[in-house]
Amino acid sequence: MTMRATQSRIYVDRHGRGMKRMNFEDRAKLRKTYIAQSPRWRHPVIGYLLCPFIVALDMLTILLLQKMLGPLHFSGSFLILAVLFTALLWGAGPAIFAIVLSTLLLDYYFITPIGQLFVRTWTDASQLLPFVISGLTIALITAQRERARLKALLTEQELQAYADELEVANKKLEDANETKDRFLSIASHELKTPITTIRGLAQLMMRRLAKQRDPDMEEIGTTLNKINDQAQRLTTLIDDLMDVSSIRAGKVELHRRKCDLNDVCREVIEDQRLLSGRVITLDESSEPVKLQVDDGRLAQVFVNLIGNAVKYSSEESPVEVGIGKQNHSALVRVRDHGKGIPRDQQERIFEAFYRAPDAQTSSKQGLGLGLAISKDIVERHEGRIWCESEPGQGSTFFVELPLR
Ligand code: ADP
Repeated sequence: MTMRATQSRIYVDRHGRGMKRMNFEDRAKLRKTYIAQSPRWRHPVIGYLLCPFIVALDMLTILLLQKMLGPLHFSGSFLILAVLFTALLWGAGPAIFAIVLSTLLLDYYFITPIGQLFVRTWTDASQLLPFVISGLTIALITAQRERARLKALLTEQELQAYADELEVANKKLEDANETKDRFLSIASHELKTPITTIRGLAQLMMRRLAKQRDPDMEEIGTTLNKINDQAQRLTTLIDDLMDVSSIRAGKVELHRRKCDLNDVCREVIEDQRLLSGRVITLDESSEPVKLQVDDGRLAQVFVNLIGNAVKYSSEESPVEVGIGKQNHSALVRVRDHGKGIPRDQQERIFEAFYRAPDAQTSSKQGLGLGLAISKDIVERHEGRIWCESEPGQGSTFFVELPLR
């Protein structure tokens, strides 16, 4: 049985049992809270104080009735009303007190010899027994009710303690997340300047070498080319980091204008063909697909999707892009013939920094940001992005955008 400890030092198992395991101090504290929650006049002490008056009033009524109507059968049983009333309003303790008082009065007024306390024979005692048993049953039921209420209160306190703990943990997480985002933003800004300088210098040297046309310098030219390529890769990664931190800070603004989706995709595909040297087919829509969008940001989405399709499929396989119209929306599909994505990862890949285990262990590099950024861009255009894939049969990414 697993036990949980909370700040309030109250112990409960997962079935809500466990009050037996509470120490006396905790139990008393809980009872105090329980009593404090009831109105003041229902405090048990008030019950003990009022109880003799209630029993006496009940007794007086019985005696009066007897005087008016003559001897009553089971007249003593009327006193059970006083016990019931006390139990309902003040709980088990005052109810037991009411039973004791009533039993004494019954003995005094109804058990022969009348006018004397303390029964002497078993026969006399047996006359009181039904009353005492009924009274004790009422007290027992009341005690059970109280216990159930205490348990409910205990659970409530437990839940409150958990909620408080959760809130503190949440706040800490939010703070940590904010610090991380701030760090990302500052680090990427700081990294960008030296890398742009390195790239600029490498390109300048490459141009100078090209002018000299000196065959001895060819090796240096190749090295400079590699520096330029790697610096370009770094720039792309830093741009992604900057994008994701501005997205989280809600700083990304869209600059919408009217454009044709066919043109946006065509331009991206031409670039990607040149960059990758891969076969990328485009099945354009037969009619213009006019949208009011930020074409630069949308191009970024297609670069990510086509770039991934190229990255995660074999060199010989083609990447197929198709554009179509459906009722009130435009649909772009990017299909590859790679390994595919298992079903349980098809949603997670859109989370920032998530990379499928396969990708993590492969030589394919990446930060796991492209799809998260793409999702944000598409959703800001009131669109939808998703993936359909069967392991071993490639993947198809869909982007749906409202026509305007
Ligand atoms: P990155 O490619 O930099 O890792 P992305 O956000 O673009 O980041 O993609 C997240 C993850 O989704 C990738 O790491 C990869 O596991 C998976 N993924 C994305 N596109 C494809 C694809 N076309 N085929 C297989 N897996 C993919």
